[in-house]
Amino acid sequence: MKKRYFILISGIVQGVGFRPFIYNLAQKNNIFGYINNSSEGVNIDCEGEKSNLDNFINDIIINPPPLSKIENIEVNEKELLNYERFTINKSEVKANKITNISPDMATCDECLSDIRDKNNRRYRYPFTNCTNCGPRFSIIKEIPYDRDKTTMNKFKMCENCNDEYNNPSNRRFHAQPNACETCGPSVYITDNKKNNISCDDPFYYAQTKLKEGYIFAIKGLGGFHLCCDAENESAVKLLRKRKNRPYKPFALMAKNIETAKEFCIINENEKNILCGIRKPIVLLEKQNNISLSESIAPNQNTLGIMLPYTPLHELLFTSNEIKNSIKILVMTSANYYSLPLEYENDIVFSHLNKIADYFLMHNRDIYMPIDDSVVKSVNNNTLMIRRARGYVPETFSYKNIHNIFAAGSDMKNTFAIAKENLMILSAHNGDLKNLETLNHYINNIEHFKKIFDFVPKYAVCDMHPSYISTNYAEKLNVPLMHVQHHHAHIAGCMAENSIDEKVIGVSFDGTGYGTDGNLWGSEFMICDYLGFERAAHLEYVPLPGGEGAIHKPYRTAISYIHKYISDSQNTIINLFGEKSANITKIIDAKINCPESCSIGRFFDAVSAILGVCTESTYEGQASIELENILYKVNSKTNDCYNYSLNNENNIIIINPKEIIFGILCDINNKIDKSIISMKFHNTICNFTNYICIKLREKYNINKVALSGGVFQNSYLLKNIMNELKKSKFDIYINKNVPSNDGGISLGQLAIAERRISSNLV
Ligand code: ZN
Ligand code: ZN
Ligand code: FE
Repeated sequence: MKKRYFILISGIVQGVGFRPFIYNLAQKNNIFGYINNSSEGVNIDCEGEKSNLDNFINDIIINPPPLSKIENIEVNEKELLNYERFTINKSEVKANKITNISPDMATCDECLSDIRDKNNRRYRYPFTNCTNCGPRFSIIKEIPYDRDKTTMNKFKMCENCNDEYNNPSNRRFHAQPNACETCGPSVYITDNKKNNISCDDPFYYAQTKLKEGYIFAIKGLGGFHLCCDAENESAVKLLRKRKNRPYKPFALMAKNIETAKEFCIINENEKNILCGIRKPIVLLEKQNNISLSESIAPNQNTLGIMLPYTPLHELLFTSNEIKNSIKILVMTSANYYSLPLEYENDIVFSHLNKIADYFLMHNRDIYMPIDDSVVKSVNNNTLMIRRARGYVPETFSYKNIHNIFAAGSDMKNTFAIAKENLMILSAHNGDLKNLETLNHYINNIEHFKKIFDFVPKYAVCDMHPSYISTNYAEKLNVPLMHVQHHHAHIAGCMAENSIDEKVIGVSFDGTGYGTDGNLWGSEFMICDYLGFERAAHLEYVPLPGGEGAIHKPYRTAISYIHKYISDSQNTIINLFGEKSANITKIIDAKINCPESCSIGRFFDAVSAILGVCTESTYEGQASIELENILYKVNSKTNDCYNYSLNNENNIIIINPKEIIFGILCDINNKIDKSIISMKFHNTICNFTNYICIKLREKYNINKVALSGGVFQNSYLLKNIMNELKKSKFDIYINKNVPSNDGGISLGQLAIAERRISSNLV
């Protein structure tokens, strides 16, 4: 019997080859009608024999295109219209609904074979893509996703491309960025004075110059990279000098997985991420005795490696004419001091002409700049460190959430919006600390409002009174909620794991404004979305110079020794020289010395006491290097330092006096730094487990949620998880959002939603 169904599908169904897929399926099942994109997803109007229609719908659910993600499918029976064929119709725009937009995806295998095939018309064409891969989010100006609403609108397809675009059986059917050598974007090279360099093959030219040690700015998918040959020691050093970046690790791009394996130890999970459809930077353990310069990631036992994720990058490693072509490149995000990622052709020269010798440019505009994502694998969990390309703007489900804007944190900022049944996180926006980064933040928010048709009814921000993000949210003219930083960390972890009950939250972090006005960051809290009770933390110590002490770990070290060691003056001078006497005076006079219980600062202090890192050139350097020396131990130890726990107003206060004392004794006894670091880490794991047990006894809660930037320390995370597991806790950690401040906005949304639905706003 003949029937007519009207089907509404929402989810990631635009720009991922959904319409050609449906078209082909309709042909196969003898179904007539049409499909079009709408602001809600796709609509399918279809008529056919009932059994054919059933098969049709079944196939949609079971076998959708690889990049699509169906969130909801709604089928309504309608009166027969007697369609005579199946067509793909023009998009229809409807207001107030979210269309899921696909992230930018790495080049698929079929496109790779196209550009490697001498007889293919896309042989070595750097902008090859299809419905299964290529740019999306970064080129979309407006929705619905059609070519004229992307930065591809200035390129008119040639006849061949047009045929592919209109042929429902072609892989490039309605691939909006479809292009070729004849009609599409192209690559060119300039010197740093903006002079075009004429050459037959820009990739050959680039490889030759990179081999000679020159530095390139390369325009890619979401922005520019600064690039040099990673095996060329002097080129890497020159880049460090010109970028004024002495220690912060550089990301690398390896020719292929085999090359990556020459430099790093790669397990199965890591290999799958490296070679997958997103291709983020993966932090991997270094092999011993490799040919790379130490200055790529000084004092680290890991390297951040990604594989080529666009044809343009692929071509950087393959030239017909060079036998000994480049194996591995430094590929670090190009930004000018602390400004946002460079992405515009006309601005990049004035910003980078003193850093790059050459510019590998192209004329496909980037509308929404987006950084590379960074992940790592711990115990076979893939953990997000920086969520951006390949992941944003994928959504998180949350039933019936209000229209909320979450401003995020000022460090490693992401903001987030909530609407209908979804939460959407922005990409990593970097640190908000100047007018340029604020403008970048505001532009991104405006873009999100447009492409997700979002109007905020509520806003939520951090409690920190001088955060730029807080000030922005305060001006929005909608009801505003302030959320404590570490409560947001834990709530984000809970939301990601769909937990909705009281947990023991452990937030180990660099900083965060507390309800008492002090700087927090070693928080054990009993909390749910509505609120929290502070249950334990490290004892406060003064932070000389306030949050500026982040860059001067030796100052924090002096503060710890001064507080906990009697007659400390000699010890301090022995460790840090005469200049340190002034710091103790500042502490005693209480000049700009806010109280802090941040465990991140405690790590800094120990790092400085050990002489591992006394001054930090990038965020977290002292703690990161303290973790990294631990991997150098010859024989593992389970030893811990002693510590004491005091009870003050029903809060457990961790007193680190004996830890500091023990470390100083070990230094005196010439114990190896790596052993001291390991013992220190073990101590943190030990008291974390012990305190969680105490809290379980008191509150009868068995769920522990771990969140905060310090959990990016793999040794700490692994060992705390192991201890808690032995104690039979249910453990929850961040995976799809970063445990650092990049995850704050998600937690803010979850807390805000609960306050709104409990009529507390
Ligand atoms: Zn493809
Ligand atoms: Zn073409
Ligand atoms: Fe934080």
